[in-house]
Amino acid sequence: MLDRRPQRRLPPRIATPEFWPATFDRFDEILSTASHCQIEHIGTSAGGRALHGVTYRGRSGAPTLGLVGGMHGHEPQGPATCLNVISVLGYGRDLKGTAWPEIVDDLNYVIAPVVNPDARARMPNSFVGLARQDILHYDAGMTLEGVRHEPGNEDCDPAQMMILGGLFNDAGQHVNRETDPDNIRSPEIAALMEFMGDHEPDVVLEFHAHGAPPMLIRPTNLVPDEVQARQQELCDAIIAKATAEEIEFRPTAPESTHISTSLYHHFSGAVPILYESPQGVLDAGPAWSHEEILDTCMFVVSCLCEELMG
Ligand SMILES: [Zn+2]
Repeated sequence: MLDRRPQRRLPPRIATPEFWPATFDRFDEILSTASHCQIEHIGTSAGGRALHGVTYRGRSGAPTLGLVGGMHGHEPQGPATCLNVISVLGYGRDLKGTAWPEIVDDLNYVIAPVVNPDARARMPNSFVGLARQDILHYDAGMTLEGVRHEPGNEDCDPAQMMILGGLFNDAGQHVNRETDPDNIRSPEIAALMEFMGDHEPDVVLEFHAHGAPPMLIRPTNLVPDEVQARQQELCDAIIAKATAEEIEFRPTAPESTHISTSLYHHFSGAVPILYESPQGVLDAGPAWSHEEILDTCMFVVSCLCEELMG
């Protein structure tokens, strides 16, 4: 008897540098040796994978920075950056040996490195050197007929997908579109918001990526005006510093009114900020290498540390 159940396509494994951890064996290796951090099991994904929360305790009474990676599986630079920050906090250098003096151990850090592990497990390790079209095969996924799924804001039915997109957990829930704090449905967002609520970070930076130059986004649903003013101030400071250092950056930070990122404010009081780093595809302006992509992410973290240290 032939098995007629839908066959899920496996991700191609693209060779990536050591400083770009994108697989669970590497995540486990780095986290299991990070004795300078506390690692908590904060929940379990729809697909049964462990969700980890990492905390680093700085000077007593110091501000707290939150970092969230891997909301979308096809954006591996987020988890990679979180693990590089953990390296800086333990050893003074990131995984390729670069020092980031602004990422100081005076601050407290609350880190969810891979918040949607189901999606990370299905996705390639990198899109560097590929084309924008290659991302489109993965982001929203591909139907059994081999046609790109139309993303929208809805959940999707995993049984209908040849590639279940990087936007979704294994139950097909569109995790980053959960915007009702009274009706959180996915185990990932529920665990993440509880974790952030327990630690009350001052700012939460959520990592994303797109086929375009670096861009900050201001999530504004449920975020009051005075918090939006602080959000704008922080984005302006990062953009001004990027301009001064001649890092290509979108000069304005558009708002988004329909993403779960804003819920950090609702659940923890934090100022929510979203960073879209380049994916490194070849048809989106100058090519970005793994090193340059990681450095833009670390640069944004550095700027926020500097702002929090005042
Ligand atoms: Zn994203």
